Amino acid sequence: MTKCIVCNTAIPMEFDINHIFSKNKVICEHCIEKAYRLETRRCPTCHKKLTEDETVCLDCQFLSQYFEPFNHIFFVSDYDEWIKAQIHRYKSDGDILLSKYFATCLLKNYPKSFFYKYDYVIPIPSSIERQKLRGFRHVETILEEAKIKYESILVAKHRMKQSELSKIERIHQDNPFTIDCEKEAILKDGMHILLIDDIYTTGLTAHHAQKVLLHKKKLNIDMLAFARV
Ligand SMILES: [Zn+2]
Ligand SMILES: [Zn+2]
Repeated sequence: MTKCIVCNTAIPMEFDINHIFSKNKVICEHCIEKAYRLETRRCPTCHKKLTEDETVCLDCQFLSQYFEPFNHIFFVSDYDEWIKAQIHRYKSDGDILLSKYFATCLLKNYPKSFFYKYDYVIPIPSSIERQKLRGFRHVETILEEAKIKYESILVAKHRMKQSELSKIERIHQDNPFTIDCEKEAILKDGMHILLIDDIYTTGLTAHHAQKVLLHKKKLNIDMLAFARV
């Protein structure tokens, strides 16, 4: 009997002929279904849930003063208490096995063919200090688990935790990203790029990453986040 790596409950064995030779599942259906998007009124650009009296998304309005908009923003799941707890287990407690969970949910919503449309899939990195502390690169590890090819072109400088800064401080802060100069030459005008991060909150981090890339070439950039706050 296999147990689900996320919730630790037993996964029933499937005894039909098609499953005898396939690998045992390690994540139960219940956990996979918990990564979901609520059907509700959302910002057409960034998919933020809008309250009843909101007609425009204030985040998008604010960002449009400083940044180009993304072509498309995609996400896998709402950032509810349950997803928040799993991301915490993965990133802060270092339960690296959960990369299988995020990879499974990612591919369920965006099959491999979705990623083939892009010239490059580029993860948004954490700072080197935080990566060292964690011992693994959290977005890359999920992409490897999902067998999605990526290029780590962006490098994060050391920065204060975003939550410790006000919105205006964050805008005027230097861009926290640079481009790995050894890989810069792979970018060409007109390329389609997909940026990937784990959580999309106000979109400021994603737009900073996008700005660094757009500064180099005329690129068509989409954004995909695992969880949308
Ligand atoms: Zn489970
Ligand atoms: Zn928006």
